[in-house]
Amino acid sequence: MKEKNNIKILLAEDNLVNQKVAYNLLTEEGYDIVIANNGHEVLDLLKKDKFDLILMDIQMPEMSGMEATQAIRQEEQETGKHIPIIAVTAHAMKGDREKCLDAGMDDYISKPVNPRQLYDVIKNFNQGNAKQSATQTQSYDHASVMERVGGDETLMREIVQIFVEESPLLLHEIEGAIHEKDSHKLERSAHSLKGSVSNFSAKKAYDAAYQLEKIGHEGDIETAEEIYKNLEKEIKVLTEELCSHI
Ligand code: MN
Repeated sequence: MKEKNNIKILLAEDNLVNQKVAYNLLTEEGYDIVIANNGHEVLDLLKKDKFDLILMDIQMPEMSGMEATQAIRQEEQETGKHIPIIAVTAHAMKGDREKCLDAGMDDYISKPVNPRQLYDVIKNFNQGNAKQSATQTQSYDHASVMERVGGDETLMREIVQIFVEESPLLLHEIEGAIHEKDSHKLERSAHSLKGSVSNFSAKKAYDAAYQLEKIGHEGDIETAEEIYKNLEKEIKVLTEELCSHI
C-alpha cells in the first residue's frame, strides 16, 4: 500500500462487489475512502464530513447518483463551493456522458472500472482542474480516448504529440484554401483535421471542421471565414487541454 495522500473520497455505490473492488483499488493508492450506499447517504455524509471528490454510481436505490448530484449542485449555489463529482456508470450508451455533465457531474468513467483510468481521473481533479471543469465542459472526452488507446498512457502521449504537430499545419492549409477560394483544398484539409480531431472525441472542434468540409464540398466559400475562426479557437482549447492531461 502506498503512503497516505490525505485525499478523502466519497465512494457512492450500492453494489457490494463493486464497492469492494473500488475500495481496494483506491485504498491501495493511499486514498481515504468513505462508502455511501445511495444518494441519501451521500447527502448525509457531506453534511458531516469534508471530502475532496465524489465517485458517484448512477443507479442506486432510494436516491440515484443523478438526483444526488443535482441536490449537491443546488446546495452549492448558495455556498459557492464545488466538489468534483465523477460519474461511474455501467451505461455504455452514447450520450450518457452528456447526461452526467448536464446533471452537474465533472467527468465520467465507465464500469467495470479500469484502474488506470480511475487513478487518472482522480489525479486530474486533484491537480486543480476541478474549477475549470466546473465552469466549462471539457473540449474532449478523456475517458473515451483512454479507452481507444487501451489505457496506454504512452500511446496517448504519442497521439497527442502528433496532433500538436499536425493540427497547425492543417489549420494553415484550411486558412490558405479559404483565401484562395479553393473549395477542393478546403474540403480536403478540413476533412483531414476532422479525422484527427475525431480520435479525441472533441465534439466542438469536430463540428467546426465538419462544417468547413461541407462548405468546401458545396463550394459556398463565403461563409467559411467565421467558422474558421471558431475552429481555430476550438483547436487551441483542445490542444491546451490535451497537453495539460498528459
Ligand atoms: Mn448501482
